[in-house]
Amino acid sequence: MRLVFLGPPGSGKSTQAASLSARWQIPSLSTGDLLRDAIAAQSDLGKLAQTHVEAGELVPDQLIVSLMRESFGAPATQKGWILDGFPRNLAQTQALDTLLQIMGQPYGQVVYFDIPEDLLVERMLKRGRQDDREDLIRQRLQIYNDQTTPLINFYRRRHCLIEIDGSRSPQEITDAITSALRPLGRD
Ligand code: AMP
Repeated sequence: MRLVFLGPPGSGKSTQAASLSARWQIPSLSTGDLLRDAIAAQSDLGKLAQTHVEAGELVPDQLIVSLMRESFGAPATQKGWILDGFPRNLAQTQALDTLLQIMGQPYGQVVYFDIPEDLLVERMLKRGRQDDREDLIRQRLQIYNDQTTPLINFYRRRHCLIEIDGSRSPQEITDAITSALRPLGRD
């Protein structure tokens, strides 16, 4: 099982990634969590990423791609993975293709969490993370709209996109994902 979760911040990707990774016993690789841990530990990566994360901007591709290369090196990823928050632009999409080719892993499915923007802002304000101030939320949504939404068509053209209504309850979303994957023999 190799899945990419694609969707705006606050769309419920991380909640689904955590519950499905526990169910399927495969790691969920969340670039946001990895960056927040690196910042808390003040590692070299954390220091380089901090200003970008705090400003609600994307961290430079080079840093994210080396973080992903390292994460894919962990033995636990041999059985599969869920990517939560990567790729986020077309350059990262190409970098993911290259990494998969090098690892000799076939391409997975992409689950797209479709959800209206008003609901996202409301959810993120409730979540109360440090970068969940309204101005930073708007900034992150703007970056998502500019840089990440082109990936929807990119993966749709590859015929590997599964579209999910992200405004439904967490349980309904889990059910929608598992039944969309079942015909592919991936549950
Ligand atoms: P998230 O928890 O996925 O919302 O990510 C929190 C923050 O981490 C983002 O606002 C970015 O600053 C940074 N980040 C996470 N993933 C990426 C990525 N794939 N590329 C660049 N920056 C990222």
